[in-house]
Amino acid sequence: RQAAFRTDLSMLLDQIGGGKESLSFMKRRIRRLTQQWATAASRLEAKLGQRWRDQKKILIHVGFLTEESGDVFSPKVLKGGPLGEMVQWADILTALHVLGHNLKISMSVKDLQGFLGVPPGRGSCPLTGPLPFDLIYTDYHGLQQMKQHMGLSLKKHKCHIRVIDTFGTEPAYNHEEYATLHGYRTNWGYWNLNSRQYMTMFPHTPDNSFMGFVSEELNATEKRSIQQNKVNNMAVVYGKEASMWKQGKESFLEILHRYMEVHGTVYYETQRPPEVPAYVKNHGLLPQHELQQLLRKAKLFIGFGFPYEGPAPLEAVANGCIFLQPKFQPPHSSLNHEFFRGKPTSREVFSQHPYAEQYIGRPHVMTVDYNNSLEFESAIKEIMRSKVQPYLPYEYTCEGMLERVHAYIQNQVTIPSCDSNLLTTTGPLFVPLQNSTALVWASDVRAPTAWPPLSSLRLLASQEGQSCVEACGLTGFICEPAHFRFINNKEALRGLEVQCEVVDSEINHILPAFSVMRRECGLQRDPLLFSCAGHSPKYRRLCPCRDFRRGQVALCRDCL
Ligand code: UDP
Repeated sequence: RQAAFRTDLSMLLDQIGGGKESLSFMKRRIRRLTQQWATAASRLEAKLGQRWRDQKKILIHVGFLTEESGDVFSPKVLKGGPLGEMVQWADILTALHVLGHNLKISMSVKDLQGFLGVPPGRGSCPLTGPLPFDLIYTDYHGLQQMKQHMGLSLKKHKCHIRVIDTFGTEPAYNHEEYATLHGYRTNWGYWNLNSRQYMTMFPHTPDNSFMGFVSEELNATEKRSIQQNKVNNMAVVYGKEASMWKQGKESFLEILHRYMEVHGTVYYETQRPPEVPAYVKNHGLLPQHELQQLLRKAKLFIGFGFPYEGPAPLEAVANGCIFLQPKFQPPHSSLNHEFFRGKPTSREVFSQHPYAEQYIGRPHVMTVDYNNSLEFESAIKEIMRSKVQPYLPYEYTCEGMLERVHAYIQNQVTIPSCDSNLLTTTGPLFVPLQNSTALVWASDVRAPTAWPPLSSLRLLASQEGQSCVEACGLTGFICEPAHFRFINNKEALRGLEVQCEVVDSEINHILPAFSVMRRECGLQRDPLLFSCAGHSPKYRRLCPCRDFRRGQVALCRDCL
């Protein structure tokens, strides 16, 4: 069946049900953004023209909100707890509904069993018939529950699963045996999925798919009125929980206070939280639309280093604030910071919000060393002087999210773990582009249905110690894990004029790669380990880069 765009969200709201504060938060958000989604739907519909879109049967099982997982989030919705996940799930539900798919929404193990048609009880009676869904969106908690209740049949159906995974999972951590043998085992990873089945909140490593969420959009009139009503010396602090204000913040807060009126939205019960200085005008935790109003007046939204990578800085920039955030030197990662410990990624985080720094940057985002009071002070002065327009990257608009989710649903059906034929590493044809280290794909009759299409492929060799994320990034491209299977061969090495005395095929997440010194070349034996993120000091990696659309990094130019 053909999917038809929906602009009426009432059926979705009914399906979500109620009772819990987390669900009410999501429903309030969905209602508030209804008009914005409707406009986006009609724009995307016009853009896609008459293109056929399959209607999919989709199960959404929100594991972290189930009682069975302990649901630690719901009771904290009104108390300053994390809201980013709720924001993202609300937007995913809405995007799938607006795109016209056939949804079933599950928030408990009982719902899950009902929808899958497995009898109640633990794993004793696995699903025997065909899976009644084309796709299942869940999270790590949900995955665990599905394993318990579907037993071995989970394995059979796992290519239909998409895991919403805020911070991402790198291939080395995802591969169970490899992770266990090489010290990448964590509490979360080791599911042996194709890494593109993990969908992240921001475009972290392109090994995963970037799902994202949306932020409020402004029309021209609203933009103009924001410009007129900005209060140059008004700052709002990013951090709704009192603990985010603890320790070591006094010195730069003092400087900030010298120049600006400082506002906060810190949750409190009866008394003002002692961590928040008396001169701060604390509004308490605000409903989302009231926070937006505050951001419309404020000139500065200032981060204290935590929370990492949340939605709020995008909302601030969309409302015409400048986001000021601390640089992390050394970078934070699972090796040195409690928050990232045990997360299945070795990504190094160089500031509170790397996306804001790398993809938005000045004049909207400033990243400075907060320990350097001169640098901090001059940033504050610059912010008060400068004029900026509200800005929202296309990928965080409703249209951008619909476009991306549409493209994944219609094209990511060939995620390799579903179809082992796609894992073969055949030799392609290359022609040199400009110089010997950059090659462009010529033509390939063996992969006419590849997505992203092969026209987007650019082959590069990284420097020693460099990952493909970096190598592609430095040349204005992005690493595309789906293209690894086309460059994991001798032809690619020859095309790059690599001198190989031996070409081995091994199981190691930095392969394909070569050592110049030792004239050693290695190809990847296990396609599950193809990794954009991997790097090693002694090896130069073969990197499959691709082009991308401006403001929509998840999609290549010919991807729609
Ligand atoms: N938020 C809110 N009221 C407030 C402060 C924040 O509703 O007083 C919302 C904000 O609009 C954002 C969400 O909380 O969409 C998540 O914010 P944050 O970036 O702090 O991420 P988190 O750590 O909660 O995931």
